[in-house]
Amino acid sequence: MQQVLSAHQLLAGPRGQRFSPGALLIDDDRITAVGTVAEIEERASPDARRLDYPRGTVFPGLVNCHVHLGFDSGEDPVTALRESADDELVAAMGQRARLHLAAGVTTIRDLGDRDGLITELRRSVERGEASGPRIRAACAPLTPPGGHCSFLGGEVSGPERIRARIHDNARRGADVIKVMGNGGQTTPDGPRMTDSQFAPHEFALIVDEAHALGLPVAVHAYTSEVIAATVEAGVDTVEHCTFMAPDGAVDLRDSVAETMAARDIAASPALPSEWRTMWDALGPERSRRIAERLRWLRGHGVPLLFGSDAGVPVSRHGDPVSTLELYEHIGVPPEEILELATTTSARYLGLSAETGALRPGLAADVVVVDGDPLLDLQKLRDPALVLSAGRAFPDGHTSHP
Ligand SMILES: [Zn+2]
Repeated sequence: MQQVLSAHQLLAGPRGQRFSPGALLIDDDRITAVGTVAEIEERASPDARRLDYPRGTVFPGLVNCHVHLGFDSGEDPVTALRESADDELVAAMGQRARLHLAAGVTTIRDLGDRDGLITELRRSVERGEASGPRIRAACAPLTPPGGHCSFLGGEVSGPERIRARIHDNARRGADVIKVMGNGGQTTPDGPRMTDSQFAPHEFALIVDEAHALGLPVAVHAYTSEVIAATVEAGVDTVEHCTFMAPDGAVDLRDSVAETMAARDIAASPALPSEWRTMWDALGPERSRRIAERLRWLRGHGVPLLFGSDAGVPVSRHGDPVSTLELYEHIGVPPEEILELATTTSARYLGLSAETGALRPGLAADVVVVDGDPLLDLQKLRDPALVLSAGRAFPDGHTSHP
């Protein structure tokens, strides 16, 4: 089926690629042309389905680089996950995935589920048996015995088990290798947030082994020590990236940020949707330090990604805008926020030839909102239309603004 979408403005991505009024030609699941309304109408067949949003903005589907579909965002997501049978968990992950898609997130990267069950959901989405966003998956994250998120099934100890786990995950269909560099808060009785879970030579082994299989590496890292070691090892994205000292104080290391920028290693701060609640609990001084750290990373030219850690207690599935508001809060202009949440995030997921922009040849992952999100980020809420590879979600949902 051919579709023509036209609107007051079209933001094709990256920044500055704007048509007003603009239009998009879609053939089945692909974008075939982008331009002014006149240019597109010249190429479109007379019986194409036409949707016009005279006050609307068209932009590429959002890309969330850090979610956990296996977690329910409740008070105790770990127990809830543990008590779910495999088929229940896959069904729940499917429902959560569709919350993301309904909010305009057409690609998600899941950075740790139980035993790689997510690949079952991904398969049914790819076969068209279930609707959902494009899924990139880490499967079970690498962690030491009893380490952070060991209940997800990725415990490793020693080089042989590390190699075997990476190959197991690759066979299972992992698109990325996730390694838990530090401890974390979701694991009762596990290592502390500031404990390092692997030695530098083990990080190097993990990166080399994953890269040899063509898989990028995402490291969960809070401390400057682990960030420095994993950047040195050549990871692709640093999740959380909080630059903490062992005692929890701030330890911003300029040389590490400079290396990240120079080697094109992105920071994926995994900012929860309910960050305001979290900041209230942390108090003004610690909140100010989080804002400063993000500005410091950006000031050093470290690429920032969109990730929400959706599924943990303070982060809802399907609320991209609340997370993106934190970038607005620290002074990032809306046009840059939209770019990092689409084109830039897609690039670090290895998906530049597939999504993240509106360009001929790419998948028709498209969102339309009423109004201008470049003037007001809130306009990103409640999309009037979400297309995932050309298909409207929910089915047939095409409300006109
Ligand atoms: Zn996470």
